[in-house]
Formats: sequence, structure tokens, C-alpha cells
Amino acid sequence: MFYINENFLNLQDSYLFSTIAKKVAEFQQNNPDKKVIKLGIGDVTKPIVPAVCDAMKKAVDEIGTAEGFKGYGPEQGYDFLRKVIAENDYKGLGIEPDEIFVSDGAKCDCGNIVDLFDSESKIAITDPVYPVYLDTNVMGGRSGKFNKDTGKYENIIYMPVSSENNFVPELPLITPDVIYLCFPNNPTGTVLTKQQLKKFVDYAKENKSIILFDAAYEAFIQDENIPHSIYEVEGAKDVAIEFRSFSKTAGFTGVRCAFAVVPKTVYGLSKSEEKISLNKLWNRRTTTKFNGASYIVQRGAEAVYSEEGRKQIRENIEYYRENAKIIKEGLEKAGFTVFGGVNSPYIWLKVPEGLTSWEFFDELLSKANVVGTPGSGFGPSGEGYFRLTSFGTKENSIEAIRRITEVFGG
Ligand SMILES: *Cc1c(COP(=O)(O)O)cnc(C)c1O
Repeated sequence: MFYINENFLNLQDSYLFSTIAKKVAEFQQNNPDKKVIKLGIGDVTKPIVPAVCDAMKKAVDEIGTAEGFKGYGPEQGYDFLRKVIAENDYKGLGIEPDEIFVSDGAKCDCGNIVDLFDSESKIAITDPVYPVYLDTNVMGGRSGKFNKDTGKYENIIYMPVSSENNFVPELPLITPDVIYLCFPNNPTGTVLTKQQLKKFVDYAKENKSIILFDAAYEAFIQDENIPHSIYEVEGAKDVAIEFRSFSKTAGFTGVRCAFAVVPKTVYGLSKSEEKISLNKLWNRRTTTKFNGASYIVQRGAEAVYSEEGRKQIRENIEYYRENAKIIKEGLEKAGFTVFGGVNSPYIWLKVPEGLTSWEFFDELLSKANVVGTPGSGFGPSGEGYFRLTSFGTKENSIEAIRRITEVFGG
């Protein structure tokens, strides 16, 4: 009998969203007359904008002709998309099209990138965290054992973020090889200024670490001093890989398109101390294991950058932003301490004194009939916090706040 990759047995089952679904179903069964408002899951709700749909329709017609048919495309993405990304998202930042790798999702990219690192690499993550960074390293054998008492893996470096440090992670005491950063952050909705991000870039340079920067929520930034890309920080092009996605920007969660930026100036070391270009390694990995995102989808993604597309997408983002504002300000009025919700679709609130994240979940569901996500599901430092999202309708956001105020306000 063959043996399996034992690292998988080291994964902790995530009961988060299945437990939420079960609790909601149970409540709904016992209270069929109650209208439950779901502000839990991080999926968008607005339809794909017309400019993008038109571009995809055109591409569909094109591949149905003898002249326009497309077979396998370039694994790294079509030039037309890589160019338009470089010219728009990285204008003035010196990122070249051949440093951009188009994919079918930032989740896969974040998970796949670990192929490039030694199995002994030390990994640093923020706590709470988007679980993909952690679990893919557990699968890769870099985590050590899970400690049930602390809720942490032995060999992972956790950088806690909470109201105590204003959600700015501190530089780790043990030097990591790989540092995951996600800003605007999921789940906390908080951001880093350029100066705060620069500390990490300088640290990575000094300690010869690499930063994996997840900018999936970049489109939600509205404050001027908040960097959209890590490459706005001087020196980042030598130490950072950036992930972006059309999922939250343009509602592509079901359409699927994203990209990774791997600058040609990022090097890692071989055991014989030779400098190896990560751009070359990622290119090799991509061409070996991936046959490219669909032509139709890439034409859709290209239209995100057209004048019409940009305008239409802006409107959707504004809609979610307005919801975030309604939720954030409503909660504050009701007496809650609230973080995020300005440069992010996520609102991260402190649960009332004396309750755990899950206890608050139960109260919110039973008394206000509103569903959110318990912070403790994202890591031990998320305990005492709770995530609401602005991806619902405006009507539901208003109604949710009305109910929450009625139950918890004053
Ligand atoms: C939604 C999200 C992504 C995007 O994932 P896709 O696979 O591109 O849909 C990436 N990172 C974070 C933190 C996210 O929340």
C-alpha cells in the first residue's frame, strides 16, 4: 500500500463556514418566519459589468470562427492582458509585462508559490489570517505540530494584530524566510501606510527574507497615503512578490482571473549559495503545471481597464463602500468599537465585553437574525472580534444595522 503525504494529517479541520451554515440552517428551521440577513461570507454580489460581458461575448464569437479560434494560449497569460496590467496597475513603478503572470485565481497563486521555497523555510503570518497562507505551508511540511492549547503551529511565526497594536504587525523576533502580508487586510479590513510597509521591506532586505504581498482588496483603497501596490515602497522590487485578483475588484469570483507579479530582481539562494531568479522559477513552474487562463476570461479582464469598464466597476465598488460606511457608522452609533470598513469591504468589530466571538455569533443570529463571521475562526488573536462584510445589498445593510442597534444599542 502506498503512503500519503502525512502533512495533510497535520491540518486542522476548518469548521468555520460549515459550522456557520449549520447554525443558520438550524435557526431557520426553528424560526421559518424570521428573515435572516447574511453578512458573513466574502463573496461579491453585484453582476459582472456590461463592458466586461461585452468583451467576453465578443471573444466567444471570435473563437467560433476559423480565423479567430484559439487553442492553448501562453501559460503566463496573453500579452494584451499582461501589457495592460503593467501600464495601468503599475504605471510608473517599472513593472514589465514579463514580470506579470496571469492565472485563474489569487488563492491558487498564494497556494502554489510555496513550490519555490525550501521545505525548511521559516514562515511568518499575521494572526488572524486568510487561512490559505497557513494551510498550504502545513501541507508543504513547514509548520511543525499543532498545539491545541495555543491554537498555533510550533514552527510558524505568528504576528498578532489587534486593537493593542492598532492592527500593525510588529517585526518578528525570530527571522522568517517568507513573510505573508495582506493589505487591505482580510479579515480585519485594516491597512498599512507606506511608512509602515517600508519597515517590512527594509526588514526583508536586511534579513534576506521575501515578502508575499496579497493586494486582493487594493481597489477598495480610498485614502491617499495608503499604497495600492507594495512596489510603491522603495526597494520592494528586490524582496517582494505581489498577488492581485479580479475577484473583488471586478466581481470575477465565479469568472476566475488573477495575476502574480514576480519581479526579475527578486533572488533566492540555492544550497550552494548561488543566486537564483524567482521570476525564472515561477515561469518554469507555471509552464510545467498550468496551461493558462481562458482566452475569453482574459479578454474580459482586459475590459476592466477600458474607460467604460473602469467607470462601471467604480460604481460597484462605490456601492459596497457605501454599505461599509452604513455598517461601520451604524455600529459606532450603537456603541461598538469598529475597525476597517474604510479602505476595505470588511468591518471588524469588538464583540461586547464578556462574550466570545462564537457567543456573539449566536446572540446576533438569535436576537437580530444577522449572520457574520466569528473572528476566532481566522486565528487565536481573532478571538473577541467579529467580521461583517459590505457585499450584501444596501437595504439589508441598513436593516441589519437597525436590528443590531435595537438589540445591542444603548
Ligand atoms: C478573495 C481573496 C483572494 C482572491 O482569491 P481568488 O482566488 O482570486 O478569487 C485573495 N486573497 C484574499 C485574502 C482574499 O480574501
